[in-house]
Amino acid sequence: MVAHVLVFPFPAQGHLNSMLKLAELLSLSALHITFLTTDYHYHRLCLHSPTHARLSRRPGFWFRSISDGLTDQRLRSADRILELYESLTYNSSSLFRDLLISNQNQNQHQDWWPRITCLVVDGIMPFAIDVANDLGIPTIAFRTSSPCSIWTYFSLPRLIQAGEFPFPFPAEEADLDERVYAVTGMESFLRRRDLPGFFRQARDISHPFLDFVYAVTLSSTRAKAFILNSFEAMDGTVLSHIRTVCPTTYAIGPLHSMLTSMSSHVLINSQSDQVLTNSANLWQQDRSCLTWLDNQPKGSVLYVSFGSYTVITNEDLLEFWHGLVNSSQRFLWVIRSDLVNGVDKEGSPLPLLSVPPEVAEGTSKRGCVVAWAPQEEVLAHPSVGCFLTHSGWNSTLESVVAGVPMICWPFFVDQQITSRYVSEVWKIGLDMKDMHGREIVERMVRDAMEGEKAQELKRSAAAMAEKAKESITEGGSSHLNFQRLVHYLKSTDD
Ligand code: UDP
Repeated sequence: MVAHVLVFPFPAQGHLNSMLKLAELLSLSALHITFLTTDYHYHRLCLHSPTHARLSRRPGFWFRSISDGLTDQRLRSADRILELYESLTYNSSSLFRDLLISNQNQNQHQDWWPRITCLVVDGIMPFAIDVANDLGIPTIAFRTSSPCSIWTYFSLPRLIQAGEFPFPFPAEEADLDERVYAVTGMESFLRRRDLPGFFRQARDISHPFLDFVYAVTLSSTRAKAFILNSFEAMDGTVLSHIRTVCPTTYAIGPLHSMLTSMSSHVLINSQSDQVLTNSANLWQQDRSCLTWLDNQPKGSVLYVSFGSYTVITNEDLLEFWHGLVNSSQRFLWVIRSDLVNGVDKEGSPLPLLSVPPEVAEGTSKRGCVVAWAPQEEVLAHPSVGCFLTHSGWNSTLESVVAGVPMICWPFFVDQQITSRYVSEVWKIGLDMKDMHGREIVERMVRDAMEGEKAQELKRSAAAMAEKAKESITEGGSSHLNFQRLVHYLKSTDD
């Protein structure tokens, strides 16, 4: 019998992206795979993801979906994530249990959908770990966010004990520069403002999002092992701390790079599959921006994207837009249809404020705006010189692999601490955290695109890209960790 792994991501773009890549990597390693998602997201994958179409034709690869329990489409919007989470916990967990029970009870020799021998579930869904533990199916937790953020969540009791959390409330700007010493390994650079955003919103040790994140993080210790999308040369120190609580932690990233490398190797040997465009897109990609990039000078374009979940006010968007245009740099900008904060009476996103003529003119001269870009290809394009990002973990890793320096404008969860690591630890970008106004944006963009600072960032980013590459090639740390993971998963069919 072949070991059969069910991979179950949280239904959001960043989670689907990295977990579908992991699923494909495991499938290339001769494991049977079922990729489980919610009906709604499955439908969107079918519409927009060529990867889904390709994998659904692959023998030994199954897609399954269950309801997320939501009847109102508005509850799936970017700013209602806790409601989606609650609905999954209360509605989807029983459907998940039923699915596993029906799978486990069928005849082992039935080959249409073989018995699942192990689960890899998104670590932000503790209910999935608990259901699997109840049914006696080994489970591994996968967290799609940055290891540094996960270590700060694990450190919450130490922060409370040291009196470093909660912060004075309401936190003044100056207070946020206070240093924090209770997160082991981060003593020399961590400030209050670098801790995930909800730390500063909490009046006392209890806060809904903080409680949620801490409970979720602890739940990973109930799994057999832990998977993180990172690599030892970049996150070795933090990984060693995480291993004090999750001893079997496999750091197997950057996953997208590992998949490109492994699939090209398999293709040379088998020619049986088409070349990959590895993406679990939930939106239609606008590929015209690649043609636009073809016509720009090398390294001249700032790529701007705030990921799939960030929302922003119309005022902040316009202020930022002014700064971007005033910087006089070329830019490619992803403005999602639901980027602007707020909905009208019908639940449709608010229309953008009208753009002043000088901003519109600067944009048409030097800019290209799309609703969704083929991001990995954009970052690999020679015309791109810098990435202005919200510091989502997938985006950060994609920039690292492409050797593109970053300007970080973090919004929430792991983004605040990731941006600190980008600027202070890895020194591959600038941190624009908590800074507002068109002058700041203009200065940051200029600093990252031209002059000595820009050259320095470019050199560090190229060095980090080289380390990422080493980690996924044969004998590299992520490559070895991945082999250990596959070895464990294969042993679950005994
Ligand atoms: N992405 C994309 N096209 C876009 C914007 C984003 O393909 O126009 C992808 C990006 O490559 C990344 C994911 O969406 O893999 C965003 O994940 P991330 O963790 O960076 O941020 P999140 O969306 O979870 O905040």
